[in-house]
Amino acid sequence: MSVTHRLTAPAPGWTASTDVVVVGSGVAGLTVALNVRKAGLRAMVVTKAVLDEGSTRWAQGGIAAALGEGDTPEQHLDDTLVAGAGLCDEEAVRTLVTEGPDAVRRLIATGALFDRGEDGEILLTREGGHHRRRIAHAGGDATGAEISRALVAAVRTDPGIELIEHALVLDLLTDPEGHAAGLTLHVMGEGQRDGVGAVRARAVVLATGGMGQVFSATTNPAVSTGDGVALALRAGAAVTDLEFVQFHPTPLWVGPDAEGQLPLISEAVRGEGAHLVDADGVRFMVGQHELAELAPRDIVAKAITRRMQEQGADHMFLDGRHFGAEMWEHRFPTILATCRAHGIDPVTAPIPIAPAAHYASGGVRTDPRGRTSVPGLYACGEVACTGVHGANRLASNSLLEGLVFAERIAADLAGRHAAGELPERTVDVAAARAARPVPLPPSEARAEIQRLMSRGAGVLRSAASMADAAAGLALIAEQAHSHVAEEKPADPRVETWEAANLLLVATALVAAAAQREETRGCHWREDFPERDDAHWRRHLITTLAASGDPVSTPEEQ
Ligand SMILES: Cc1cc2nc3c(=O)[nH]c(=O)nc-3n(C[C@H](O)[C@H](O)[C@H](O)COP(=O)(O)OP(=O)(O)OC[C@H]3O[C@@H](n4cnc5c(N)ncnc54)[C@H](O)[C@@H]3O)c2cc1C
Repeated sequence: MSVTHRLTAPAPGWTASTDVVVVGSGVAGLTVALNVRKAGLRAMVVTKAVLDEGSTRWAQGGIAAALGEGDTPEQHLDDTLVAGAGLCDEEAVRTLVTEGPDAVRRLIATGALFDRGEDGEILLTREGGHHRRRIAHAGGDATGAEISRALVAAVRTDPGIELIEHALVLDLLTDPEGHAAGLTLHVMGEGQRDGVGAVRARAVVLATGGMGQVFSATTNPAVSTGDGVALALRAGAAVTDLEFVQFHPTPLWVGPDAEGQLPLISEAVRGEGAHLVDADGVRFMVGQHELAELAPRDIVAKAITRRMQEQGADHMFLDGRHFGAEMWEHRFPTILATCRAHGIDPVTAPIPIAPAAHYASGGVRTDPRGRTSVPGLYACGEVACTGVHGANRLASNSLLEGLVFAERIAADLAGRHAAGELPERTVDVAAARAARPVPLPPSEARAEIQRLMSRGAGVLRSAASMADAAAGLALIAEQAHSHVAEEKPADPRVETWEAANLLLVATALVAAAAQREETRGCHWREDFPERDDAHWRRHLITTLAASGDPVSTPEEQ
C-alpha cells in the first residue's frame, strides 16, 4: 500500500519527530494522546486551529451511556441497532455500549464535570431514538465545551504531549514497506516551524472530525472539511458509508440564504418536551411515529422537510414556550442566549428551525482496534467508520464512540510497543515524491461545492439531482487541471488545500449516494423510496483509482 496522490504543496522545509502523531484535538484525538502516554509513548497533537476548535466543543445534548438505574448496555445496543437501519456492525456496537459506561467514568476522573442531582447522581436525559434516559450532560447544554475543557487541561499539563496548533495536515508519509511513518503539514505562524514541514512517527492517528462543510447549511464548524477522509483516500485507505450523512432536524433557521455553521437547537430540547409545529401551529409528528418528536433523526428531518414542502415554507417551528423562563435559563442557557442573539425569545415565541448537515456516519474504515487498511494508520472519532452507526447515528453516541475507540487505539499501540512491533520508521522519500500531485481548485470553489452538494445530495436525493451535483463537481476538477496545464495553478495555501479536500470528499459522497438505489437510515432517495435489503444491506467501500477519481464498490455479501 502506498500514497498514490498528494496535495500540491512545496517540499517540506523542516522536520520533527515523535512516537505517535495525532491529527485533531477533539474528544477523539485528545483521548488518544492522553492514553498513549500511559504506555510511555510520546505523542504529538497537530491541529488546524486552536485546540478546542472542532465539533466537540459544540456538542450540546450530551453523551449516551447505560449509567442509569434499570438501563443496560443491551438496551442501548438495541436502540443503536434500530437507528442504524440494518447496517451497524453489531460487534462494534456491543463494544461501544459495554465499554462506554467505564469510558465515561474515566472521562470524569480526567476532570470533566457532569450535571448531578441533589443526591449526587449524574442527571440523565432522553434524546431521539433512546427508550431510556441515558444522556449525561454538562453545564445544562454545554456538554462538549466541558469535555473539551477537561481534556485540553489534561493534555496541557503533560510534558510528554507536544501540541502544534494552527497546523494543517496535508498527507501521509510511509516507509518502504508501506507502513505509516509520519505526515506532511503546513504550520501557519512564525518561528522555526513555519510553512510546510514533515513529522516522522511510529504510527499516525487521524482524529480530524467530520465533513459537514461539504454542504452550505451545516451545524459543523469551519474546520470540518473532511481532510482526514481525503488524506486517507490519497494514502490508499478504504473509506465506507460516505452516503450516510445525518441531517439534524432542528438547527436554528436564520434566514433563507444562511450559509456556514448554523446554531443548533439540541435534541434535548425535544427530550424535555418541546413540540414541533408547522406554520399553523399543528403538531405534525404525533401519529407519524410512536416516539413523536423523539423519533430517530432521519424520520424527524424527513417529516419536517415534507411538511415544509406541503406548506411551501422554508422552516418549521420548535415550541418550548411551556418550559417557562426559569427552565430555559437553567437547563438550556446556551441555546437561550443563542436564540436571543438572533432576535428570538423561546420563552415567548416558537423557534424557527430547518434541517442541516450534522454528522458523517461514514468515514475511514477501521477494525475494532481502530486500524485502517493502511498499516500504522489509525482513525477514530467522526472521521472513522467503526461500524457503530450503520445507516444513521443514534443521538449522543458520537462523543462516546470518540472516547471508546480512542482508548482502544491507545491500547493497541501500547500492546504493539510492548511487543516491540512499533519501531521507528524511515520515510520513503522517493515514494512521497512519486505520488501524483492533485491540482488545487481556487478558494472560491468551496462555496460552489457546498451549493452543489446542498442542492443535489442534501436531505432529498434523486438520480437527477445527484447527476447535476456530480457534473458540477467534475467541472471544478477539470478547471483545476486546465489551470495547471496553462501554468496558472491556484496557490497552495490553506483555502485551496481545503477546497481540494472538500472536492474529493464531495465527489466520493455523491458517487456512493448515487449508487445506493434505496432509502435507508439518513440516505433518502426520492426515486427509490423503499429500503431494499435484498440488494443493499451491505456497505459501499470507496477507494481512489489510479486516475485520482473515487470508486465505490459494494462489499461482498
Ligand atoms: C453542533 C453540534 C452538536 C453536537 N452534539 C452532540 C451531542 O450532544 N452528543 C454527541 O455525542 N455528539 C454530538 N455532536 C457530534 C460530536 O460533537 C462530534 O461527532 C464529535 O465531537 C467529533 O469529535 P472528534 O474528536 O472526532 O472531532 P472534532 O471534535 O471535530 O475535532 C476534529 C479536530 O481535527 C482538526 N483537524 C481537522 N482537519 C485537520 C487537518 N487537516 N490538520 C490538522 N487538524 C485537523 C480540527 O481542527 C479539530 O481539532 C454534535 C456536533 C455538532 C456540530
